[in-house]
Amino acid sequence: MPTPLRILFAASEAAPFCKTGGLADVVGSLPKVLRQRGHDVRIMLPRYQDIDQSRYRMLPLLPEMKVSYGGEVLTGSVLRCSFPKTDMPVYFIDEPGLFGRKGLYGQGHSDFIDNDVRFAFFNMAILWTLKGLDWQPDIIHLNDWQTGLVPALLKHHPEVSVDPFYAEMRTVFSIHNLAYQGNFDKFLVPSIGLPWESFTPDGMEFYGMASFLKAGLAFSSKLVAVSPTYSREIQSEEHGAGMDGTLATRSADLHGILNGIDIEEWNPAADAHIAASYSAPSGDGKAACKAALQKRLGLRPEPGMPLVVMISRMISAKGFDLVKEALPELLALDAQFFILGSGDEEFETAIAEASAAHPGRFASMIGYDVPLSHQAVAGGDIFLMPSAFEPCGLTQMYSMRYGTVPVVRRTGGLSDSVSPLTGFLFEDYTPGAMVGALREALDAYAGGKLAWRKLMANGMEQDFSWDRSAAGYESLYRELSQSGNSL
Ligand code: ADP
Repeated sequence: MPTPLRILFAASEAAPFCKTGGLADVVGSLPKVLRQRGHDVRIMLPRYQDIDQSRYRMLPLLPEMKVSYGGEVLTGSVLRCSFPKTDMPVYFIDEPGLFGRKGLYGQGHSDFIDNDVRFAFFNMAILWTLKGLDWQPDIIHLNDWQTGLVPALLKHHPEVSVDPFYAEMRTVFSIHNLAYQGNFDKFLVPSIGLPWESFTPDGMEFYGMASFLKAGLAFSSKLVAVSPTYSREIQSEEHGAGMDGTLATRSADLHGILNGIDIEEWNPAADAHIAASYSAPSGDGKAACKAALQKRLGLRPEPGMPLVVMISRMISAKGFDLVKEALPELLALDAQFFILGSGDEEFETAIAEASAAHPGRFASMIGYDVPLSHQAVAGGDIFLMPSAFEPCGLTQMYSMRYGTVPVVRRTGGLSDSVSPLTGFLFEDYTPGAMVGALREALDAYAGGKLAWRKLMANGMEQDFSWDRSAAGYESLYRELSQSGNSL
């Protein structure tokens, strides 16, 4: 039995505490699985206002933590609870002036203007807290730009970089989405006590800005993209979001590991949110879920009419400009639609108008609703995901597990998780290609129950659990913890 590792997961969101997207699902599930495999895994998050202290029995742990930022002293504290249904510690970095407000990154359509201070504080507090706890992880696993400064601090901060307490810690930086970069005014650099030598084109400088993401990419021991295809795509100019040069220089340290899903949370055989449970494509369970969804949404109660669902942030990256452009063609198809999501105003408006004009056939819900998202993957027949790019994507995997056949664009993690045996893929990012693939799916649906059930069954039988991917992370951690050389 190899020695267990000490692993800290630091992130800006984790289900069930706080969530805006797939990052939360990953941080809310991978650590649990690694812990089940015997490792000492813990999580660190910002303590946002909306996290219910009494529901999670959060208790004060470190009453006072002082972090200097730009000549000022910011005072925070640390709370602790156990991750629900486990004894895994979760630490919350609290600073009411920075996190005691509604929203994770912003309100409505705009970001908070002090996100640089908020997340710089969080990054410094992560390291300060480890010292306060006197807990030395072998691996600090970081996620997206909001945690990208940690490797820069470990490597370049005049106190941290020479402190033996941190000397053995190695960092893994997961790229969930390269499009969000955390680029701010360069005075961030001295504000967090970093020397200007960290602010170079092969360090954290990005077109004159100080980039949290680039700091993570440049200074972490290892990089992981959340699917093998995305790990290749981001090294190209087309998908590199300006970071392709940095990523190419780090290609020997860049790995692609497909995300898993929480198969307990997303389980059609035991899901408290849905109308009936089921574990096979045939039988009454899924049909009951479809009928309940149609009823809830005011769609016509037609069991044989294919129901196409989408659950997504309504932004171009998720293919909403295709959906908006193709609305007349979509509405001409012999199908019902349900779209759940929120995002850019132009898409929200177009979708809301389409559903107001076509009641009974085209439903939408502009907003964020977790129970309804479960009901939609259970009640739908077809799941549409026409992303322009997709680092991994989780909803297509949830759909397959619920026997809802995906129609997706062949990009990133969608190419790694959907095949012609389980769904329909299209290549070109055009409304025509999307509608063509959807037509193919509708033809297959109309063509015969047996063949359609086989597609559903193939999807339901896929193993999207974390076990496979957790082993990939484990060997990466192991390699690092044995590497000996600093960072
Ligand atoms: P991304 O992280 O790019 O948004 P993913 O497919 O990886 O995309 O993850 C999206 C997660 O957010 C899934 O768990 C999905 O169910 C959830 N989600 C997205 N939009 C909504 C919504 N409007 N209501 C409820 N859940 C949503």
